[in-house]
Amino acid sequence: MLVVSCPSEVRRVVLSERRSGATIGVVPTMGALHTGHVSLIDAARRECDFVVVTVFVNPTQFGPGEDYEQYPRTLEDDLGSCEAAGADLVFTPERSAMYLPQAQTIVRVSELTTVLEGAHRPTHFEGVTTIVAKLFNITLPNRAYFGQKDYQQQLVIRRMVRDLQWDSEIVTCPIVREADGLAMSSRNRYLSPDARARALALHRALDHAAALAEQGQRVPAMIESAMHRIISEAEQVDLHYAVVLDCETLQKPSEGAESAVALIAATVGGTRLLDNRILQFR
Ligand code: AMP
Repeated sequence: MLVVSCPSEVRRVVLSERRSGATIGVVPTMGALHTGHVSLIDAARRECDFVVVTVFVNPTQFGPGEDYEQYPRTLEDDLGSCEAAGADLVFTPERSAMYLPQAQTIVRVSELTTVLEGAHRPTHFEGVTTIVAKLFNITLPNRAYFGQKDYQQQLVIRRMVRDLQWDSEIVTCPIVREADGLAMSSRNRYLSPDARARALALHRALDHAAALAEQGQRVPAMIESAMHRIISEAEQVDLHYAVVLDCETLQKPSEGAESAVALIAATVGGTRLLDNRILQFR
């Protein structure tokens, strides 16, 4: 496994792989890898000839007062996980290699980024799309792998790739959960045992939403209020949103839709957590 921090060296390697006919699979991450990340590397390994994992804690997707400085950095362990999962190359750029002095260019997706996480974190998604655009230009993916865990993010990336007419396929992989249902996240390590127990309310609320949809409940507001009730029963879970929206547009679902997505964001013990679930209507 190659570990490379220089962008031009990465591009040289992937170009030579591409020229010899290999398909390139790319898994962008901020490191602190867990089984959820590894599931993306596994999918890339199954579907591509040459697998690149990028590890970069991207400063521009953190807002003022967010956890950029504290974000866990565990590169040695991450390299071990990448190697065990069969990655061919890990790209570990320095901040100065990804953000050139006096850069004036950002990549911004408009409408989709105004709701949910975008409403709460106004500059977050332009940080994400700008860095992912750069990472794609360096790693030249045939396929790039993202988690459903960050539901809005994978939609925003899909929209960017479509709108910019890039020839990369975006693959969205299912949410990997702990045995008790908590969605895995690098930020779960911030949770005290007590906060971690309270955080299970998110999963409970989504489970209930899915059950209601299966029982024939089709009215988003009814499902949303059931989720609100479950979250409010858990103590000290500060709910930001619990909504049922169209899977593609993140607007109100149209009447007669066969599916929708339930999305929750809440702060528990000072840590902001996200979870979501696709609802199939009967
Ligand atoms: P991050 O390192 O948090 O930026 O995440 C890197 C990628 O891993 C993103 O595409 C995430 O959606 C994905 N990811 C994070 N947590 C999970 C999870 N529990 N299951 C599946 N994918 C995940």
